Amino acid sequence: MKFADLHLHTTYSDGFSSPEEVLREASARKFSIIAITDHDTVQGFLEADRIAEKYGIEVIPGVEITSSSGAREFHVLGYFFDSKNEALLQGLEFNRNQRFNRMKRMVEKLNGLGLEFHFDELWKFAGNGEVLGRLHVAHFLVGKKMAQSPKDAFERYIGKNKPGYEKGEYINTEEAIKLIKDAGGVAVWAHPGKDSLGEGFSHMLRWGIQGLEVYHPNHSEAEISNLNYLSQKYGLYVTGGSDCHGKGKDRILIGEIKFPIDKLELLREAVERCV
Ligand code: AMP
Ligand code: ZN
Ligand code: FE
Ligand code: FE
Repeated sequence: MKFADLHLHTTYSDGFSSPEEVLREASARKFSIIAITDHDTVQGFLEADRIAEKYGIEVIPGVEITSSSGAREFHVLGYFFDSKNEALLQGLEFNRNQRFNRMKRMVEKLNGLGLEFHFDELWKFAGNGEVLGRLHVAHFLVGKKMAQSPKDAFERYIGKNKPGYEKGEYINTEEAIKLIKDAGGVAVWAHPGKDSLGEGFSHMLRWGIQGLEVYHPNHSEAEISNLNYLSQKYGLYVTGGSDCHGKGKDRILIGEIKFPIDKLELLREAVERCV
């Protein structure tokens, strides 16, 4: 049996492993196929794709688009799209700018709470800030001895509704799905978890979602079985991935989800039929 991990982050967004380190880890764990799904950029995918042969691993085009729908944030995974598609690249650039603006607001809030540092320090820490996220802030604050651990940083300052938190305003969810599909790809709802039990699911269907990330380390058995049921009922593709951020999270997640590649081939065939 061959396996894929379809949800991996690199240093091009808020992961803490380079594309090459991710390939090395994936190869050590005997994966045949991976998708680099950085937030709002395809740079990590492109770099991994260039060097993948050395590791005997296939890297498929992937991305995780951050999106807004009213007050809510949804993550949309894209696979098998044309990574040169202009409209998609523009959408990703818009999101990166929004992340930048949001982070400026967050830094102001954190400064206001007595955490004295300059935005540029954080920018450098985040690899010159192409895709800025809260995971960067958490580790940065630990490095500055302003938090004891990333968990402490989230609990005291940057978790949702904590005093240093700011919401980002990203491209609309329906638009994110359309961008992926118009670029020839498949749009998948990332880690739907409990949201799949609520009204989020009917919105996603209406907006044209094509698949559900059923297998994710945060999903309970009950959520997995509900997501499998919904996928069958509505004819949606099933995907799975570890959402590994290297040592950015409290544990290394790669290897926790082993998605069988015969299921992935269903997605690939569907995309190829549409070309
Ligand atoms: P952002 O996209 O900048 O809002 O950052 C989201 C990242 O922060 C994701 O990787 C989340 O898993 C992580 N995150 C959000 N809340 C927490 C929390 N309470 N503890 C640890 N990580 C969190
Ligand atoms: Zn992330
Ligand atoms: Fe996500
Ligand atoms: Fe992710």
